[in-house]
Amino acid sequence: PCSSHDASPISENRENKHVHGVSEKIVGVLGGGQLGRMLCQAASQLAIKVMILDPSKNCSASALSYGHMVDSFDDSATVEEFAKRCGVLTVEIEHVDVDTLEKLEKQGVDCQPKASTIRIIQDKYMQKVHFSQHGIPLPEFMEISDIEGARKAGELFGYPLMIKSKRLAYDGRGNAVANNQDELSSAVTALGGFSRGLYIEKWAPFVKELAVIVARGRDGSMVCYPVVETIHRDNICHIVKAPADVPWKINKLATDVAQKAVGSLEGAGVFAVELFLTEDSQILLNEVAPRPHNSGHQTIECCYTSQFEQHLRAVVGLPLGDPSMRTPASIMYNILGEDDGEAGFKLAHRLIARALCIPGASVHWYDKPEMRKQRKMGHITLVGQSMGVLEQRLQCILSEQSHQVH
Ligand code: ATP
Ligand code: MG
Ligand code: MG
Repeated sequence: PCSSHDASPISENRENKHVHGVSEKIVGVLGGGQLGRMLCQAASQLAIKVMILDPSKNCSASALSYGHMVDSFDDSATVEEFAKRCGVLTVEIEHVDVDTLEKLEKQGVDCQPKASTIRIIQDKYMQKVHFSQHGIPLPEFMEISDIEGARKAGELFGYPLMIKSKRLAYDGRGNAVANNQDELSSAVTALGGFSRGLYIEKWAPFVKELAVIVARGRDGSMVCYPVVETIHRDNICHIVKAPADVPWKINKLATDVAQKAVGSLEGAGVFAVELFLTEDSQILLNEVAPRPHNSGHQTIECCYTSQFEQHLRAVVGLPLGDPSMRTPASIMYNILGEDDGEAGFKLAHRLIARALCIPGASVHWYDKPEMRKQRKMGHITLVGQSMGVLEQRLQCILSEQSHQVH
């Protein structure tokens, strides 16, 4: 084994001598961003070996992984080569080469969740069709391939409406709002045109956004995390509050919808279900992520089993852990780049310096090599006795950012 990431396509940080661990399976993760990094952190406690496939030598997960293959997770030969070194394959991003995963599964490679799940989820339109066929409540939607189709959707759904790119969407990059018929063509252009593959969703008049993380073990057993409220800003997850402040009935409905949605997908792992709560107390599904998710970062501090440990337990076949909260309340705040480069680092470091002085606050810094505006660079989790106290503490952390209005 070599310690340098330059010397070989895979650098293994340890010799594979020990065979008496909690699990002998090497977990191969496609993608090495912050989710991969936090999987590695959870893995270290159980001495589970996590191997990362990511094209960036300095990706977030690299330094904490058992091994890092510096190459594309969207290239067939590479994924095949990577799979040979792992006992089970999983993902921290759904935009991977799913044809290869399907081919590998046929050859006996263990993928968790299943390639069929990744295929459905990586195309948001296919995902919507799938869930509507399974009786999951959703905002109405319609595929569009030209401006005529977009106008028809406008007549049917009214305005504003949401135009979404079917593929490669994250953090709202892939969404555009049209407030009236005249804005349709500029919204389509902003998304890269019809050739990118677009569909339209009826506006969901939500009063809150909620999320539920559902974990499924290899034996099919399922557990659900407490319902949380997610607050987005510019389409990017900004704050997560756990537990969500909703009536018992809504809590139950959200959990039921999430469990039913995940029940329609195959394979083990954690799944995050994003939901809209509407004015008339309906729950509509927004989308599902087949992996750990931003709406579950607080589980590291506020639940008995974090979503990351849970995902590892699920994919290697260990018993699922207790998802319930061990603190009465928690708030997660995403540290987004406020500026590019050094200026952005300075602002983030000032925020972190304040957070480090706050009781019950845990700072997570993803160690990404590049700072960019709106990029997820880290997060802060606050835990404590009541949401009111935590909100005040968060204000203390944010208060010196004079240009931010909260
Ligand atoms: P993620 O980073 O969660 O993967 P994404 O790029 O896939 O984000 P969506 O989850 O589709 O984007 O949408 C981002 C946000 O935009 C939602 O959380 C919600 O605030 C808003 N949004 C999405 N769809 C609708 C809709 N139909 N009506 C109203 N708001 C919507
Ligand atoms: Mg998404
Ligand atoms: Mg989303």
